[in-house]
Amino acid sequence: MGASVKSHMDYAHELDLVVRPESSVPFLERELGYYVGSGFPLFSIGGGYFRHVLQQVLVGFHARRGYLIVETPILASSDLFKLSGHMDFYRKNMFVLDIEGKEYVVKPMNCPFHLLIFMSHLARYRGKVKLPFKVFEAGRVHRYEPSGSLYGLLRVRGFTQDDAHIVTPESDSRDVVFSVYEEMITLLDSLFNIKVNSENLYIRLSVSDKNLIGREFMGTVEEWEGAEGVLEKVSRHIEEAYKIRRSVGVGEAAFYGPKIDLMMVLKGEGGVKEWQMGTIQFDFNLPRRFKIYDAVKEIYGDLNVYVIHRALLGSIERFLGGYLEHFKGRLPVVLAPLQIAIMAIKTGEREVDEVIMDRSITLKSKLLEKGFRVALKETTKTSLSGDVRNIEYTMKPPIIAYMGAREVQRNSLTLAIFNYESFKRETETINYESMHNAADALESIVAAWEEKVAKIAGPVLRIPADLSHTI
Ligand code: ZN
Repeated sequence: MGASVKSHMDYAHELDLVVRPESSVPFLERELGYYVGSGFPLFSIGGGYFRHVLQQVLVGFHARRGYLIVETPILASSDLFKLSGHMDFYRKNMFVLDIEGKEYVVKPMNCPFHLLIFMSHLARYRGKVKLPFKVFEAGRVHRYEPSGSLYGLLRVRGFTQDDAHIVTPESDSRDVVFSVYEEMITLLDSLFNIKVNSENLYIRLSVSDKNLIGREFMGTVEEWEGAEGVLEKVSRHIEEAYKIRRSVGVGEAAFYGPKIDLMMVLKGEGGVKEWQMGTIQFDFNLPRRFKIYDAVKEIYGDLNVYVIHRALLGSIERFLGGYLEHFKGRLPVVLAPLQIAIMAIKTGEREVDEVIMDRSITLKSKLLEKGFRVALKETTKTSLSGDVRNIEYTMKPPIIAYMGAREVQRNSLTLAIFNYESFKRETETINYESMHNAADALESIVAAWEEKVAKIAGPVLRIPADLSHTI
């Protein structure tokens, strides 16, 4: 890698997404990183907008696909994790603490809570609970990782999973697994502008070693054969229908069940990188421990169910890191911390400059009223190119609006809009009668991007902010 290749943390820092602890200047930032500690990403102002909008898109997306939305606590009694088996098998990856002589853990996974919720629904609503039962949470988990293994956003101790658990009858399981795959490619395309194809995605099926079932792989041979049969069929179907590559790893399943992982292959400045994203995992361990099989049989009669863990992006932090590196810090417009930068290009002539400033300030306030994140920069013809270079280097707003003497004279606004396919800005001029019309025209440009997301997740949350101090 050349010295000019930026890491995802450079981009995260430029965009004000995350405070970079190892930053040498300015001094204050280094202090912040020091006090927060390693492995716990501190999302900054820009990161706050990114996360809140993303959270809302994820909730809207899953809710529209029949997932029930929950939120579970970060800390819980270790009894829950004894029941789930984590205290026996996963203890070394967990943060454990003592509160008034009682043992608590910081949750390393959301599953035990989601299964508790399923069991409580079953107890309360009995046969009215609809199967497949799907429960979603953007759940923040913490895992102990040695400090030496931490790396930016890619390897952290605290992260958020777009996590769901599905209890499905065996008969629905193929449809369930296939629909999870479709959810993943839909989200990547509509929200992140990633068109999935055989070049950039493959699926990895991990199955048991048949000789070790009952020893290294827990559960019965029937369970493994059933679940692996489902994953085998669905993965072949994906391979054919979407022309996606597929690899099979024998003996590579988790001890609790077989799985499909979705692997992204991205070619960027730093070479080819593979990064694991979504996962679909069967589990034969937790349902036994939570007595789910028995409870289902008691209520639904002789019905076999599978318990499935799944995440579409995986860890949001890791996903963001990979995304920033590959797309050079160009976030989609709905998630970009700064969406529109207004450049007020002053001339030195008082009367003209008054109009330029008046229109620029009015435009900014109208855009804020519409819910956008905007910034206004006063500049001059001579410093304009340096100022633009600077915002391309830092906040990278998808839209830059220029207001100068020419624009004032023509009642126009010059826009430079980032095109995510050509990866270049395209210039467009809009004419207006008042700044009200100009703001409407800008709104319709952003709305076209929002519309794509709205189709899969409902109206996009607009969180307005005046971020003028960042450019
Ligand atoms: Zn899980």
